[in-house]
Amino acid sequence: NRDRILQSERLNVVSELAASVSHEIRNPLTVTSGFLQLLNKSNTITPEEKGYVELSLLELNRAEKIVSDYLSFAKPQSDNMVCSNMKAEAEYTKNIIMPYATIHKVDVQFNFNNTLNKCYDKNQIQQCLINLYKNGIEAMREKDGGTLSIDISEKKQNIVISIQDTGIGMTKEEISRLGKPYYSTKEEGTGLGMLMAYSAINKVKGIIEVESEKGKGTTFLITIPT
Ligand code: ADP
Ligand code: MG
Repeated sequence: NRDRILQSERLNVVSELAASVSHEIRNPLTVTSGFLQLLNKSNTITPEEKGYVELSLLELNRAEKIVSDYLSFAKPQSDNMVCSNMKAEAEYTKNIIMPYATIHKVDVQFNFNNTLNKCYDKNQIQQCLINLYKNGIEAMREKDGGTLSIDISEKKQNIVISIQDTGIGMTKEEISRLGKPYYSTKEEGTGLGMLMAYSAINKVKGIIEVESEKGKGTTFLITIPT
């Protein structure tokens, strides 16, 4: 029990630190990447120099991915608390990932029937949902598409969000590693998306349950008390 408390305090510190660090790092990344792209177009640049510039751009792109998995919506200074059901956030983030779903031939089903209200940090919930939607879509990449079903409902005073994909699925062993920092099976993965998702749900005293079958797909079931 004591372990549990320590763990949840640690998660809160992680997400708060991440919010401010991500926010501060994003601007210099954008500026540096812009100048390197200019340099890359110069007609006096040697092939060797061009190689260095391109490598730098790739590395900056990687850093940008890490920031994205943490807080794409970060505005650490402003007050992000809202008291609402999670429909607006779920729908908004669904719209944001629609182009990504389309590119990967993923059909997105969105179902909402809920009226309960809860107070939460809007940005963190959005980030959590985005990371779970993205993982679902990426799990269907190798299968050349599939369906991502998002369902929000009210069950026994809880807000229940189910995110289901028809992707590659996970073994028990793989499930047990979810949320460990830097655990990723993807070549370009950050291994930070699930950590952020767990941290956001932990903050609203909710839980994330995972059901998965290798080759069949995965369901993330988020239960948040109101
Ligand atoms: P990343 O997506 O950058 O790899 P995440 O923390 O978001 O990092 O996810 C960690 C790992 O968990 C992924 O690399 C993948 O192996 C596994 N995973 C997460 N979600 C799913 C899913 N919906 N289906 C299959 N595997 C998943
Ligand atoms: Mg991810």
